[in-house]
Amino acid sequence: MHIDMDAFFASVEAYRNHPELVGMPVCVGHDPKGGTGRGVVRAASYEARAKGIHSGMPVSQAYRLCPDATFVNGSFECYSIASDEFMEILREFADGGRVRRASIDEAYIDVSEGAELYESPRELAIEIQEEIRIRTLLPCSVGIAPNMSVAKIATGMNKPRGITLVGPDPVDVEKFLDPLSVDALNGVGKKTAERLQKFGIETLGQIQRMTIPELWPAMGRSSVWLHRRARGIDERPIIDNGPRVRKSISKDRTFMKDIAPEEFDYLHEALRTMCTRIGEKLRKKALRFKTVTVKMRYSDYSTIQRSRSIPVESDATSLLEKVAIEIFEQKRNHNKSMRLVGVKVSQLSEVSEQLCLTEFL
Ligand SMILES: [Mg+2]
Repeated sequence: MHIDMDAFFASVEAYRNHPELVGMPVCVGHDPKGGTGRGVVRAASYEARAKGIHSGMPVSQAYRLCPDATFVNGSFECYSIASDEFMEILREFADGGRVRRASIDEAYIDVSEGAELYESPRELAIEIQEEIRIRTLLPCSVGIAPNMSVAKIATGMNKPRGITLVGPDPVDVEKFLDPLSVDALNGVGKKTAERLQKFGIETLGQIQRMTIPELWPAMGRSSVWLHRRARGIDERPIIDNGPRVRKSISKDRTFMKDIAPEEFDYLHEALRTMCTRIGEKLRKKALRFKTVTVKMRYSDYSTIQRSRSIPVESDATSLLEKVAIEIFEQKRNHNKSMRLVGVKVSQLSEVSEQLCLTEFL
């Protein structure tokens, strides 16, 4: 099974954060300020999509298409919490508790064993959808197929709240894929699709009816892969990719021209700006740091990195700045010009989930 949350960010905003917006056009993105605002739509609810809005579109354009839409500034922290809850539910249904997270809002699970307890895998999918709806309040769609590649395509067929089942018979799988455009396959992007089109190949059915040598002029060594996927063959096992962990966050800056060692005001200001950005990112992602590393590259390209750990994890910009500047002043060579400085935080820990949930409720 491939399970994909429907309009994830927009759904979290409506179903979890602003229930009064359920069923309304919702966009995650900057305030369009009556059509003069900058920035792009990061996610749009299905009601907003019905007005022609899609993610990546400038908010000003989205505003013109649907002035009644509500624009909310997304909160990655909320999405992250919802994602963890979703993955946890999948784990309960997955054979061996194995979940293959594909992104924040989609995952694969093997249910070959689990589905045997149900009349049909569709019944199991209904139960999973229901469990997700009850516990996270969010809608999702499910694709059921003999393997990951086909399941992913199936999920997209009936969105939102859909369930699409492709039976195990290879003949049925080929029939399902036959009419689809080549870029329906995960792994075939715009460039590959254009290239195939130059060779007159537009559907997966066409590829199914070709031989690998016939496909070779268009795809070269990728022909074998594409030929298999077009016929719905994918033998990858579902391997759990473990909990989502972010190991570090870093920023660095290369100066337009080397900075003389006496210009410490300028260098400190550069470090402070980076610390501010990192601090914002930490708090947005509900993470705290324990270790700070400062990177220094001199005009002769020699580079050093020095680290220090703080006693208690923190997400405070002020502390990060203080530690970074201390390291910088104690460890830098005061006779050399600086070409680059960088700051990294690591040994990150998540702010306890309990705390996030209380803040959020
Ligand atoms: Mg999704």
